[in-house]
Amino acid sequence: MAQIELTKLRKEFSTEDEYIVAVEDMDLQIEDGEFLVFVGPSGCGKTTTLRCIAGLETATDGQITFDDVDVTDQRARDRDVAMVFQNYALYPHLSVEDNIGFPLRISTKLSTEEIDERVIETAELLGIEELLKQKPKELSGGQQQRVALGRAIIRDPEVFLMDEPLSNLDAKLRSDMRTELQELQQQLDVTTVYVTHDQTEAMAMGDRIAIMDDGMLQQVGTADDVYRQPTNEFVAGFIGSPNINLFTAEVEGETLRGPAGFTYSLDDPSMVEGRERVRVGIRPEDLYVASDGSVPSEINVVEHMGNENFLYAEMGDVELTVRSGSQIRPEENSTVIFGFDEEDLYLFDATTKESIK
Ligand code: ATP
Repeated sequence: MAQIELTKLRKEFSTEDEYIVAVEDMDLQIEDGEFLVFVGPSGCGKTTTLRCIAGLETATDGQITFDDVDVTDQRARDRDVAMVFQNYALYPHLSVEDNIGFPLRISTKLSTEEIDERVIETAELLGIEELLKQKPKELSGGQQQRVALGRAIIRDPEVFLMDEPLSNLDAKLRSDMRTELQELQQQLDVTTVYVTHDQTEAMAMGDRIAIMDDGMLQQVGTADDVYRQPTNEFVAGFIGSPNINLFTAEVEGETLRGPAGFTYSLDDPSMVEGRERVRVGIRPEDLYVASDGSVPSEINVVEHMGNENFLYAEMGDVELTVRSGSQIRPEENSTVIFGFDEEDLYLFDATTKESIK
């Protein structure tokens, strides 16, 4: 196990016609035994950060330490990390047992008997002991991913690094494997850094979630922290499904005036004092039908999900999503007024997009 610390980590790529800052001045401490998930849109620098931690990329600037030991310039093979990738990267000509045992065969002085024993233990841990004699192509995607995990686990590394390891699996298997991976990580208690672009997966799995955009860390926190107290509009928009509703409102004293007659008087206007306008965020589940509400809308589509409904509406030129109980069934093309509680309101600076409430 290891505590990982990134200090002002920076990674630039320059090609003939391009100069890219893939990771910009990242400060982050990952605790011993923690499950930390990097999440963000495609190209935001998640994989590059992971590859820097692995030693597969050399940092342009900054420092990486494992338990206070500077590994910034250490080669990948000298760092005690194991990686699991999306594409499994199994050796097709080797059996499952040889794939799992491979890291020990090439890098340790263990006897064949000891290695065989460790392979069996690992296979049992993952529930694939029946498959040891098979070749990768004879296995399902989920089984192949377990073999890839086995190959990572058998070395008993200090750190697991996983890059979208479940994204080739179908939805059901993916959600089963999420739970299994979490259980396995808790059991092994190994510091794990996991990359995904799927915010639901990040929220479900991470002890903490590190949200990135455009090479920069936007926020690090528990699922609750990033959902309830996003530091900026990007985080509020990225976390939460369906997405938060966002629009601009003019500030007139204690009143917010938005599109299509949106009018709301703040109980606590102190946070908008001195501002001409703000960005307003309201989560779909925080809107409810209320005749004296502030959010007038035209209902476009009602999706009945059985236990709940999704209402897709418009407030002027702003598209709204409302997540309601299944008993709320407005007619399509009807006008409905929604309300919300002030404690559920998010406000962001209109220019910097930083959170002000
Ligand atoms: P994805 O989810 O699509 O994999 P990501 O968040 O993992 O995205 P990275 O793969 O880390 O993002 O890429 C970050 C940026 O760095 C992108 O603009 C990418 O094009 C660029 N980049 C990554 N590797 C290289 C490289 N070897 N050479 C040049 N540019 C690169």
